[in-house]
Amino acid sequence: MLTKAYDVLKEIYGFSEFKTGQKEVIDKILQGKDALAIMPTGGGKSLCYQIPSLVFEGITIVVSPLISLMKDQVDALTELGIPATYLNSTLTAAEMNVRLKKAVNGDYKLIYVAPERFQTEEIFYLMHTITISMIAIDEAHCISQWGHDFRPSYLSLGESIQQLDYRPIVLALTATATPVVSNDIISLLGIHSDNRIKTGFERDNLAFQVIKGQERNRFLLDYLTVNKGQSGIVYASTRKEVERIYELLNAKNIKAGKYHGGLKEDERNSWQEKFLYDEVTVMVATNAFGMGIDKSNVRFVIHYQIPKNIEAYYQEAGRAGRDGLPSDAILLFSPQDMQIQKFFVDQSELNDELKNQEYRKIREMAQYGSTQICLQRYIVEYFGDNCDDCGRCSNCLDDREATDITLETQKVLSC
Ligand code: ADP
Ligand code: MG
Repeated sequence: MLTKAYDVLKEIYGFSEFKTGQKEVIDKILQGKDALAIMPTGGGKSLCYQIPSLVFEGITIVVSPLISLMKDQVDALTELGIPATYLNSTLTAAEMNVRLKKAVNGDYKLIYVAPERFQTEEIFYLMHTITISMIAIDEAHCISQWGHDFRPSYLSLGESIQQLDYRPIVLALTATATPVVSNDIISLLGIHSDNRIKTGFERDNLAFQVIKGQERNRFLLDYLTVNKGQSGIVYASTRKEVERIYELLNAKNIKAGKYHGGLKEDERNSWQEKFLYDEVTVMVATNAFGMGIDKSNVRFVIHYQIPKNIEAYYQEAGRAGRDGLPSDAILLFSPQDMQIQKFFVDQSELNDELKNQEYRKIREMAQYGSTQICLQRYIVEYFGDNCDDCGRCSNCLDDREATDITLETQKVLSC
């Protein structure tokens, strides 16, 4: 079976080797087992379900919360000659009907479905009419309320699967799962705990840096001048900040786009497209931008303020360097920024228990800003794993500088 997977990898995708973890996940699925794949952003999770779907007879359902990207994903598959479609709220009733008919007719190998749809009659009908060989659940951490992006609609998904009178293969995928979230995913989806596959969380092409005590605008402008023409994302925590930084950069002739929830959908899409096609090099955005974005040549991700937690930070920073080339993940850190994130939690409708959890996560994020240990190791350990010091982050390099200075001092003194 795995030879077939290799054939698909080469002939359809034109890749010669699997990325770390892909082979293990695909192998498990082809053996008819469920799996939870925890692989970093850019790790190649899509192929983990796309390749088996092409090897299997029958249809694969892909659940994804990223409605705005479904079209892109389906277009990319269509271009590769793979029959695929999507069902979400952007379709008219007529379009939905056409696609459902075709789906029942067996015209598609992959059908992308938004999680909210699982509560609808159409999807119920579809699920009970066609034979589903596999259900791939992307961004599976959304099913856990201990995750950083809980979506209640993901819960009904588990129920929809149980209502079937057979059990399709279930593959859950995520880039960010703490041990608690990972346990939640497997128990809610009924995946055996032996079937958890976690690849090294380390991103060995990312240089993590924490910048403290520098004037942020100055740092940003200097950095963008030195790295002129490189593609990157600047994350800020409020819409207002995004607008301000966007104005600042454009005033300095740096081609920047912007993205936040306050912009109309058309405008957001248009900036996103301009960024994807390199018409603007820098995207200034709130966390509304980027989930699932597949732009390979992002050379830096700069956080102008801390995000709400390490999960969000690693996911956002992880959008740099998806092509494997050296890239920067920079946090401009000021402890006062915790207040903005605290304010968001105060304003939220979470219950007290969840609020306390969010406050704790903000503190852990702020600790990242002040830790002395290797930044990559801090993150990896947060997710319950270990790794060696990376030797690339600002803490590792500072240590080295410190040692060098000590050595230099010793040398001078011994003369
Ligand atoms: P993820 O969902 O894990 O963040 P994607 O599935 O979007 O990652 O893949 C990230 C990038 O890696 C994509 O551009 C994809 O084409 C590429 N990729 C995936 N698998 C391979 C492979 N085996 N060899 C080379 N490139 C790959
Ligand atoms: Mg993905």
